[in-house]
Amino acid sequence: MKTIAIIGGGFSGTLTAIRLLQKSKDIAVKIINDKLPLAKGVAYHTTDLQHLLNVPAGKMSAFKNEPNHFINWLKTKKEYAHYFNKKIETEFLPRMIYGEYLLFVISPYLENSQLEIIHSKAIEIKRNENAFSVRIKNSPTIEADKVVLAFGNFQPAPPKIADPSFFNSSNYFNNPWEDSYLKNLDSSKNILLIGTGLTMVDCVLSLKKTGFKGHIYITSPRGYMPASHEETVAYPDFYNEIENSDLAGILKTIRKHLKNAEAKHISWQSVIDTLRPYAQKIWIRFSQKEKLQFISHLRHIWGVARHRLPKETYKEVMVLKEKAQLEIIPGRITSITENLNSINVSIQSRKNKSTINLEVASVLNCTGPLINYLEIKDELIVDLISSNLIASNPLKMGIKATTDGKVLTEDNNISPGMFAIGSLLRGVLWETTAVPELSLQAESIAEQIIQTI
Ligand SMILES: Cc1cc2nc3c(=O)[nH]c(=O)nc-3n(C[C@H](O)[C@H](O)[C@H](O)COP(=O)(O)OP(=O)(O)OC[C@H]3O[C@@H](n4cnc5c(N)ncnc54)[C@H](O)[C@@H]3O)c2cc1C
Repeated sequence: MKTIAIIGGGFSGTLTAIRLLQKSKDIAVKIINDKLPLAKGVAYHTTDLQHLLNVPAGKMSAFKNEPNHFINWLKTKKEYAHYFNKKIETEFLPRMIYGEYLLFVISPYLENSQLEIIHSKAIEIKRNENAFSVRIKNSPTIEADKVVLAFGNFQPAPPKIADPSFFNSSNYFNNPWEDSYLKNLDSSKNILLIGTGLTMVDCVLSLKKTGFKGHIYITSPRGYMPASHEETVAYPDFYNEIENSDLAGILKTIRKHLKNAEAKHISWQSVIDTLRPYAQKIWIRFSQKEKLQFISHLRHIWGVARHRLPKETYKEVMVLKEKAQLEIIPGRITSITENLNSINVSIQSRKNKSTINLEVASVLNCTGPLINYLEIKDELIVDLISSNLIASNPLKMGIKATTDGKVLTEDNNISPGMFAIGSLLRGVLWETTAVPELSLQAESIAEQIIQTI
């Protein structure tokens, strides 16, 4: 019997395991998962009902071939019946409910003797001829014929400042997905959130729920807030107009359609939504130069347009902004120092390059998962790179791999029997974090493995 080791048991690893078990009764699957709850991972282990999905419920089925799987499960849950007053497919439900759904999805497989879950950390992988030895902390080493890397989201990197000693402070919180920053919080003192994306919004909502009265400063180089989803009519698909264009041509066509949409009172969000399903295709076709141009000049704008907030959430944040309790400062942090009574932060303003000085009691890093594999200090990543089983992607986003998830070595040879899913493929596919994409990747990797054993 062949053994498949899956390193990481968030959505990606769990769905890959399920797809493998659906396809073969003749394999053993071992998920090695550390720290976070199985299947729920970083995104869906929250217990705060204000933390909403950023994808509408109708698109969150774990299984692409059963698009109503999530909605149908919801219908069986009396406690969530109140959501059915609305058009459920377009609703942004609490992520906690989705975490519950994922446990429902995995639970029948937990009874299956083909599946073993090892709750620990994989710390080293060695290739032995055509197989692998996976060393696991406080657990026996396992031998595997294939390995799937499903590491998911690594904690953000602290901002780069000349004296980083502040980042050892107990008033600095580097993990925004744990609620430790809410514990022992003096709700009358100020807080600084670094990063202006969706995680920042989650943290603002959690602060608000605790009755936080202090000032919430938020900073990022550009200071772009996520935009809001709008209820609007769909815009016609225009992919055929850009499928052979270069980056400049694509931008020109998008601008034309944005103008056209405006004239017809259709929101810009609808124009972006028509492109979303083609994002991977467009990215794969870009030259390396175009990819770099996109990363330098358009990444942030795409992020704002694409990672949107449910309307109600957007309004809640705006209320705090209007009340002047929340302030967004576009700029670059130049120093953070702490004395007995406070933390002093200096930011060079993006607008006029002047220095803005803030006094806060805690600092929370919401800059998003670290995806530069050369900067990730994790023991296993360092080991895999040094033994050339994986290699950092030249765009410094994830690792080298083929578009269907086969891992490549530094010299672009396929690392036989090793696959990657999710955020590891960021440089290869660009859009590779949301459930609709991960679900497809899990299916494809499982199929490739079954075909080769
Ligand atoms: C806050 C947040 C909200 C999101 N909201 C949505 C949403 O609403 N809709 C949507 O479609 N997508 C959302 N996403 C995207 C999300 O990343 C994916 O939907 C999905 O949850 C990613 O799952 P994953 O398994 O790839 O990663 P993760 O959830 O990060 O899981 C990876 C797991 O691997 C483990 N691991 C890593 N290294 C090792 C090791 N060496 N040994 C053992 N275990 C290891 C980790 O501890 C973790 O348990 C959100 C992301 C975040 C961060």
